[in-house]
Amino acid sequence: MPSKLLIVANWKLHKTIPEAVRFAMDFLKALDGKTDADVVLGPPFTALRSVKEVLKGSSIALSAQDLYWEDEGAYTGEISAPLLVDAGCSYVIVGHSERRQHFNETDEQVYRKLQAALTHNLIPILCVGENLLERESGRTFQVVQTQLELGLLRLSKEMARKVVIAYEPIWAIGTQKTAKPEQAGEVHHFIRRFLKERLGAQSANGIRILYGGSVSPANAKDLLVEPMIDGFLVGGASLEPESFSKIIRLACEGHQARPTGSQTRSSAGGTKLSEKE
Ligand code: PEP
Repeated sequence: MPSKLLIVANWKLHKTIPEAVRFAMDFLKALDGKTDADVVLGPPFTALRSVKEVLKGSSIALSAQDLYWEDEGAYTGEISAPLLVDAGCSYVIVGHSERRQHFNETDEQVYRKLQAALTHNLIPILCVGENLLERESGRTFQVVQTQLELGLLRLSKEMARKVVIAYEPIWAIGTQKTAKPEQAGEVHHFIRRFLKERLGAQSANGIRILYGGSVSPANAKDLLVEPMIDGFLVGGASLEPESFSKIIRLACEGHQARPTGSQTRSSAGGTKLSEKE
């Protein structure tokens, strides 16, 4: 079972190459060469290679924010898994809600992207989560379950266990409305239990489930109280080296402070589920 946190920066459509390089240099200084977490930066495609150069020799990994499922061909404007590997990526975000919302990405496309990423040894970070209407009508678990069924669970068990899941309630993304630790924890418990049912305990326990949605230095430590949260996917607050490094430091403190035993996931399934289903 992975005992280290995973903390991922998603820069979305921000930063020129010089800005991204400057961030990476300042960030390495801010971290002072040490962190107890696995840390990943997700610049836009254009800055991947340059950021990779700065990160060389450090433990910080690189993620892309999307990919196309074909390796090559007449697909103008697309970027494939082999090209991302070539640029130095080891992770790729798949099915972010902004892609589902603004680019009509479907669960079928998400599944094909997961397959393509895994085929080329990229670790996909699969985003799932409900919108406000779905939450308010008591359909959170149903929405998340469907996204997992149509994406992750169509993969072979061997492939599925390599995926990182990011639970990102859409109403919390970029809104400063972070989910309360217990709200996030409840969905994380649900996901873990569902994965155990479908993949078996051993595979399910090895899958990291991140939380994303307005994570900041102000709430990182509190969220980490929840034993099922294995790290964060951070948007806005990852754009400044000081705030992102602070999140990492506070998250690691929160993780350390968890009662012994809760840093693993053997207690999964004990949470009360307050939704209708
Ligand atoms: C995200 O982009 O995945 C995200 C969670 O953004 P923010 O932290 O800005 O809410």
